[in-house]
Amino acid sequence: MMRRTVSFSKNATNIFLHVLTRCNLRCTHCYINPAQHGDGTLAPDTIERWLAALFHPKRPANLILLGGEPTLHPQLDRVVKLARDRGVASVTIDTNGYLFNNILQKVDTKAVDFFSFSLDGTTAERNDAIRGPGSFAACTAGIRAAADKGFGVSLIYTVSTRNIDELALMPALLKQLPVQRFFIQVIGLRGRSAAAKGPGPSSAALQVHEKKWKETVSSTAARIAADGIAVTFPKVYLDDDEPFECAAVASHNYFIFPNGRVYRCPLCEDFPLHSLAFRDDRLVPTDPVNEWDLVQLEIPEGCVMNRLIQPGNIRYRSDGRPAHRIACCLLKETFIP
Ligand code: SF4
Ligand code: SF4
Repeated sequence: MMRRTVSFSKNATNIFLHVLTRCNLRCTHCYINPAQHGDGTLAPDTIERWLAALFHPKRPANLILLGGEPTLHPQLDRVVKLARDRGVASVTIDTNGYLFNNILQKVDTKAVDFFSFSLDGTTAERNDAIRGPGSFAACTAGIRAAADKGFGVSLIYTVSTRNIDELALMPALLKQLPVQRFFIQVIGLRGRSAAAKGPGPSSAALQVHEKKWKETVSSTAARIAADGIAVTFPKVYLDDDEPFECAAVASHNYFIFPNGRVYRCPLCEDFPLHSLAFRDDRLVPTDPVNEWDLVQLEIPEGCVMNRLIQPGNIRYRSDGRPAHRIACCLLKETFIP
């Protein structure tokens, strides 16, 4: 098994495109914020023009199609086709597993590299308490259906205090599911998590303590990788000898919403801090002060937006200095079997 820290790719454009914000579920930690990003659905022709604006002749582009639930988009297959015709290097569809509009029948394995599913527990009882009734059954059925059709399958598990103990049970569940890649995410205090709506703990109480994170995540990742599944998880806490780097400054990631907002940093998505926007289908910079002004600041805590938005995961020494620096949320570690 190989373990390595994966810096964000600087030679690729990564396009995280929210084709709509609508969803059939109401997950308690949902990061979608309709007050900021509206309830629109992007037309394929608009998407085609926006992709053209983001393409760079010397960089491959990876497209991640998101929602809401992106398979609720009635023309998602057309979006995939136009993206492939334009020459994107890879297409991933993130889904809660319901796979609406017969999407598995309308796209093929040459056009979609991965369907990426989300589960937050190993049983219907534990998962559905977070993601809603029926979601465990729908997700596991969707995983099997996608694999049966020959698609690559990923699974994402979002860790919070509500389910970190459950993570240790995932290796056993993954033995029963046809999953090639497993992603552990850390909960971001955005959308419903930030507002702490719905049942469960308040927003700060959802954040996992450093000790618990370090005790649990990499050892579980190693067990899963030993069973032949590649595992990726965020670095979160930088070691003393590791350099800090901000992906918004150093790479080419675009988080795009149907109302035309384009963020470089996903932690900013709850605020009108986007540094770019589509206006009349042209990508234009927004006025200061925006995320671009903030991410250039150098602070001893590492990530500026973490310090501003979710400071609960920073510890300080008695002399006031931070006990650790927080890595960019896009810096990952990976275990390759
Ligand atoms: S987290 Fe995803 S699946 Fe859950 S409500 Fe939000 S958009 Fe839907
Ligand atoms: S999470 Fe922090 S380090 Fe990463 S892009 Fe945002 S501001 Fe930069």
